[in-house]
Amino acid sequence: ARRARLQASRGPGGTADGHAVKLLLNIGSAADLPQGEDGADAEGVGLFRTEFLFLDRKQPPSFEEQVSAYAEVFARAEHVVVRTLDAGTDKPLPFLGLPGEQNPALGVRGLRVDRLLPGVLDTQLDAIATAARQAGAEPWVMAPMVTTAGEAGDFARRARAKGIARVGVMVEVPAAALRAGRLLREVDFLSIGTNDLAQYTFAADRQHSVLADLLDPRQPALLELIARCAEAGVRAGKPVGVCGEAAGDPLLAPLLVGLGVTSLSMAGVCVPAVREALAEVTLDECRERARAALE
Ligand code: PEP
Ligand code: MG
Repeated sequence: ARRARLQASRGPGGTADGHAVKLLLNIGSAADLPQGEDGADAEGVGLFRTEFLFLDRKQPPSFEEQVSAYAEVFARAEHVVVRTLDAGTDKPLPFLGLPGEQNPALGVRGLRVDRLLPGVLDTQLDAIATAARQAGAEPWVMAPMVTTAGEAGDFARRARAKGIARVGVMVEVPAAALRAGRLLREVDFLSIGTNDLAQYTFAADRQHSVLADLLDPRQPALLELIARCAEAGVRAGKPVGVCGEAAGDPLLAPLLVGLGVTSLSMAGVCVPAVREALAEVTLDECRERARAALE
């Protein structure tokens, strides 16, 4: 059966005066991709959360199973950013057999799992590279929960050794945002995970409803960190996107663009409203909103 490739039917997203902003999708598997041409309002996938492939099972997915899951997404979308496994607090994986922790949010999660179980990441990188070759795709691959430029550099070397050309890291930890410029000497792009970046910036559990005001993405401290990353991206000439929930909020999208981010990745249902919100404002208006919010 002919399957439509994900490609924005309404063209690229952007502001009223033509400043382009990539509108991308957050997905957990190929099943989250829109069916048919009409559903395709995004230019690609900005966050492919691969942990869903690993959840609820006693054994890790085999290499072949991983290759086929990744290849299916590559076959159906033009541009795909794959995030390597993000296991941890909110996403425990029994088969990893990680020891219990007093502070799981501050423990061995995301890229840090590699410290205890190096085989998992290398197998996944291999599977992504193999799937890409099969599908004739050039995926972007990024690691979650990166803290230092050293970690970013190590991840980049290992991903490139497998033949992955575009390597990035997520910015979810304030230390990474503070050193965004240095991180960008190691990798090709940054993707800001505002859900975790807010949690770690405000020392407030992202699931805790009593602390919701602290986790509001309009908090100036969070916006400053985002601005810092975006400015580092401009200096390096490399893309810096947002893939946390904030990116899918039509009230926040112009503000994030005003801070300088180059792409917004969100759930499919959010794309039309964000597209419309951006089309109603100029880049200068976005910048003005960003300035006001930082105040
Ligand atoms: C984030 O932290 O903002 C993010 C996109 O990752 P996740 O929500 O999967 O932790
Ligand atoms: Mg996260």
